[in-house]
Amino acid sequence: MIPQIAHITRVIQENRTVRTFELDTSLEAEPGQFLMLWLPGEAEKPISIMDPDPLTVTVSRVGPFSSALHRKQVGDPVGWRGPFGRPFTVQGSHLLLVAGGYGAAPLHFLARRACEAGIATTLAIGARTAEGLVLVERFRQIGCATVLATERGDAGHQGLVTEAVVNDLTRYDRVCACGPEPMLYAVARMCWEAGVPAQVSLERYMKCGFGICGQCAMGDKLVCRDGPVFDIEELRDNEDFARFTRNATGRRVPL
Ligand SMILES: Cc1cc2nc3c(=O)[nH]c(=O)nc-3n(C[C@H](O)[C@H](O)[C@H](O)COP(=O)(O)OP(=O)(O)OC[C@H]3O[C@@H](n4cnc5c(N)ncnc54)[C@H](O)[C@@H]3O)c2cc1C
Repeated sequence: MIPQIAHITRVIQENRTVRTFELDTSLEAEPGQFLMLWLPGEAEKPISIMDPDPLTVTVSRVGPFSSALHRKQVGDPVGWRGPFGRPFTVQGSHLLLVAGGYGAAPLHFLARRACEAGIATTLAIGARTAEGLVLVERFRQIGCATVLATERGDAGHQGLVTEAVVNDLTRYDRVCACGPEPMLYAVARMCWEAGVPAQVSLERYMKCGFGICGQCAMGDKLVCRDGPVFDIEELRDNEDFARFTRNATGRRVPL
């Protein structure tokens, strides 16, 4: 698939390290799907769809690619291929979304679809400090209730986001989560214990994005093609879940 080119129309500084980029294009996609974002002269990386219309992504500055994107300004070109991957299922009557870091991005798209479908939706978002609680106002604007948790205790519940929701879990008939894998494992464990169905969006190093290169193998699954969204039941016996990942050379290493 050859990348298409779009241009940046708006850049929003979410906090010191996270920016949201709106592009002058839209696409048909489902919540949880991702793009391979390409910066001409730089690399191509998987990035979640925060909103499909206009196409919007939220990117944390962590290394060379994301820093190069953060240097881009309104009018600059960006390439993209996609959408790729298996999306979240939009169903139920009361949905709990659990977000950590830029994991809030695909959950924002999911929240929009769920609210449009009349599903009561609660976002539980966790971060080390209040500054890391990104996109919260946007979730509120589309009609989500919010539960905040910070490890420092400068906003919401003091502690982990899973601790903030574990006692209320059976109020929800479905949980969807995206964020760091230890958080996703904690979500899966509490949902297994409470018998609440859940889906989690996983991250692995990806090169092609559609199942050719095998870089994102996780046990017997390819995260780009069989995921990134998995039912937690599919992960019960996956020995890589929250234990092993693959580095840029494809070597299986502890997470
Ligand atoms: C399905 C999916 C959706 C993602 N959505 C977002 C998003 O919405 N916003 C966001 O900020 N980031 C997202 N990421 C992560 C993003 O692809 C990379 O972390 C980021 O582009 C790192 O590139 P870098 O050169 O800035 O940093 P590097 O210094 O190269 O890497 C920093 C970290 O990112 C990981 N990484 C680097 N390259 C890749 C790659 N090709 N595939 C997967 N992980 C990589 C590394 O393992 C490392 O942990 C997503 C990843 C996946 C797999």
